[in-house]
Amino acid sequence: MPATIIDGKAIAAAVTSALAEEVSQLKQQNLQPGLAVVLIGSDPASQVYVNTKVKTCEKLGIYSEKHLLPEDASMNDVLALIDQLNCDPKIHGILVQSPPPPQIDEEAVVAAIDPAKDVDCFHAENVGKMLIGKTDGFFPCTPYGVMELMAQSGIDPAGKHAVVVGRSNIVGKPMMALLIQKCKGANATVTVVHSRTKNLPELTRQGDILIAAIGKPEFVTADMVKDGAVVIDVGINRVEAPDTPKGYRLCGDVKFDEVAPKASFITKVPGGVGPMTIAMLMRNAVKACKMQNHIEIR
Ligand code: NDP
Repeated sequence: MPATIIDGKAIAAAVTSALAEEVSQLKQQNLQPGLAVVLIGSDPASQVYVNTKVKTCEKLGIYSEKHLLPEDASMNDVLALIDQLNCDPKIHGILVQSPPPPQIDEEAVVAAIDPAKDVDCFHAENVGKMLIGKTDGFFPCTPYGVMELMAQSGIDPAGKHAVVVGRSNIVGKPMMALLIQKCKGANATVTVVHSRTKNLPELTRQGDILIAAIGKPEFVTADMVKDGAVVIDVGINRVEAPDTPKGYRLCGDVKFDEVAPKASFITKVPGGVGPMTIAMLMRNAVKACKMQNHIEIR
């Protein structure tokens, strides 16, 4: 049987439409979630990401502010802005677009964000909360989006062997942390593989669920995948395509055409995990607003 394609766009649209409803209920209580997005420098890809986030806020009725700092902004400039946003009652969530220019110490910037406003879940306090299974912090948007994709597709990770390829702080490690939690929608047995792993294909072939987050175009080939596996492709890679108007095309970390026939479920790039990342950021912003106003989280 051909794999079911998990439609990230449709699932993200369902998530955001439920959020729009929550936002309109908050308005009846004179509350409006507010998100501040900080961009340092003028990296074109980062500009696109920031604009998409701001546009999504507008669509949902979330108040947003875009703060653009010059390429040569100093740490003091950035920390002063974070300080101001931490104190601003209109702002419930703060996001600093990654990667910043080299003079900026990203870890120090993240540490300066009030954990209650850390909607990216990069602050050590929120990462720690996630790891010990607390739900009064945030979950990082991309792995959280993967969990939601599976939940909405009727895939229960409980008792399954999930293999995560990649161990970054943004995707691989939190992916592992969410999958192993002792709670509904998780309870997986998790293996994390990375660039120092020996016999990587031997391990990926054991995955009932295989999650690729490496940043290497079409790295995962059919021979690395178990028959019937759920395959989630987090990768977003630009590869040259001189015949296309843009001169490049986007592809994932999975060789879709040859892996899809072996999988039970699979995501596409684009249109898989990508839209979920923004949807979950919005969910975190609404949650932040509710928590800061002592409103019960459902
Ligand atoms: P990083 O570069 O931070 O991490 C990549 C990970 O993959 C590292 O752990 C690295 O291992 C591992 N890796 C690299 N090469 C190999 C290899 N040959 N064999 C085994 N493991 C390898 O990337 P991110 O986690 O930030 O992102 C991964 C991908 O996901 C990228 O394509 C990125 O664009 C995409 N992404 C997509 C998002 C979305 O919204 N859909 C959001 C965030 C990221 P080691 O640690 O040993 O170096």
